[in-house]
Amino acid sequence: MKHDIIEKIISLGAHKAGFVEVADIKFDSAFRKLCESNACGNYNRSWMCPPCMGEINALIAQAKAYKHALVYQKVDPLEDSYDFEGMMDAGKRMNDLTQKIRDTLGDEFGEHPLRLGAGGCRLCEKCAKITNEPCRYPDKAMSSLETFGVDVSALAALAGMKYINGQDTVTYFGAVFFGE
Ligand code: SF4
Repeated sequence: MKHDIIEKIISLGAHKAGFVEVADIKFDSAFRKLCESNACGNYNRSWMCPPCMGEINALIAQAKAYKHALVYQKVDPLEDSYDFEGMMDAGKRMNDLTQKIRDTLGDEFGEHPLRLGAGGCRLCEKCAKITNEPCRYPDKAMSSLETFGVDVSALAALAGMKYINGQDTVTYFGAVFFGE
C-alpha cells in the first residue's frame, strides 16, 4: 500500500517520495525568524504564511499531533543559479503537483490530513491577503513546511532524500501529515 502511494506520486511528477514518523521530524521555532526576514517576499502578504498563520509553537504542536508523514520532493532544472524566473516556475509546478496529489490520493490520508508545501501557497497569482480580502480557496490553500517550523534539510535526510540535487537545479519539498 505504501509502495503503491509512492509509485503513484512519482508518476504524478515527484522525484522521490517516502514515509516517515512525525516523532522523528525535527522542528525548530527559530525558523520563524527566517520568515520574518522576508527573503521570499510573502511575509504578511499571504494568508498561509506568517504572521497570518499564527504563533509557531502552536503550529508545531498541531503538526506533532499527527503520527505519520508522507514526504515528497520535486527537482527542476534552472538555466543557472541566478534563474529567479525558473525558480518561480518550478515553485508553481510544485504547487500543481501538490494539488494533483490531493485530487488523486485524497482518500488515502484520513479525514483531516495536514498538507504542507514549499515557501507559501502559490495557488493564486496574487494572494487575496494583499488586498485584505478573504482567501479565495480556503479548501485548497496550503501553508509551508517552514511556516510549521519543520527543519526541511533534516526532513530530507530522514526521508532518505538529497536536500540539494546538483548544480543548476532547484528542489522543493512537500509533505502530508496524517494519522491523528
Ligand atoms: S488560495 Fe489564494 S487567496 Fe487563499 S491563501 Fe492561497 S494564494 Fe492566498
